[in-house]
Amino acid sequence: MKNIDIKKSVTQKVVLPNANKYISVYIQREDLIHPYVNGNKYYKLKYNLEKAKDEKIATLLTFGGAYSNHIYATAAAAKISGFKSIGIIRGEEYQPLNSTLQFAVSNGMKLYYLDRKTYRRRTDPEFREEIAKKFGRVYIVPEGGTNELAVKGAAEIIDNIDVEYDYLCTAVGSGGTIAGLIAGSDGKRKIIGFPAIKNGGYLADDIRQLLKKAEIKDEGNWSLQTNYHLGGFAKLKIEQLDFIKEFVNINNVPLDFIYTSKMLYGINNLIEKEYFEEGSRIVAIHTGGLQGNLGMKEKVSRVLEHY
Ligand SMILES: *Cc1c(COP(=O)(O)O)cnc(C)c1O
Repeated sequence: MKNIDIKKSVTQKVVLPNANKYISVYIQREDLIHPYVNGNKYYKLKYNLEKAKDEKIATLLTFGGAYSNHIYATAAAAKISGFKSIGIIRGEEYQPLNSTLQFAVSNGMKLYYLDRKTYRRRTDPEFREEIAKKFGRVYIVPEGGTNELAVKGAAEIIDNIDVEYDYLCTAVGSGGTIAGLIAGSDGKRKIIGFPAIKNGGYLADDIRQLLKKAEIKDEGNWSLQTNYHLGGFAKLKIEQLDFIKEFVNINNVPLDFIYTSKMLYGINNLIEKEYFEEGSRIVAIHTGGLQGNLGMKEKVSRVLEHY
């Protein structure tokens, strides 16, 4: 993809509030590779866009919520790479559009809205036929961008890490990114995922399915920490906001509210609980998502007012 600069993804040493001198933490700055197509979303789209191009399909169609980082990145990636794009958005249309959807539209994405019930049918074969009838020949990127090609792309994140490490951590939404890290790690080192949703334990099965589909041998060198959703997807707690403030003060690295800050909050808490052995080196992936912070502003002030 044009203009993406992988070299900007540096491995940066950071200090966590519970830091102790026996544990080193680094953050892999995938948020820096491009202003719009960054974080894990770039890697997940990379081979999907190549395939669409190979198949000479001119239009990408994908799905997501109204604040979705994936919708945002797909709109920008489509524009950069010369595709048309269609976004099927979960829920009703609200005017004026929020900043995520405004950005998508300004990058040429055509938006269609589906009520939540119909949206749930998005992977049904009959529904896919309806899409084909309505939109003609389109390349469908699944919600969140997760498929086998996303796993192949996300595996490349590993190549950017330039320190030795024992643990690799990532936030988890659909599981595509952690599956890629598992694929890229060849069974070496331990990989820990931090689901951003409540009751995320079921994601372990999704991840195993995805690995199987992508023909990746599962060495079992990974696990999920399901207790760091901090109230649930896109929910905020005051302790999370306090943590972000402290982390940003110390390290001057911006974090998003939905994914990376919850992962780092979790890592910080696990350090306190002496989960990691002495001498452990941890690399946490900064998966981007900063565009979403604009849409969280009101929620943040509500939480702060309450305290
Ligand atoms: C989409 C997203 C994730 C989740 O990635 P999955 O591959 O769906 O698990 C994590 N972090 C950020 C910032 C994201 O935008």
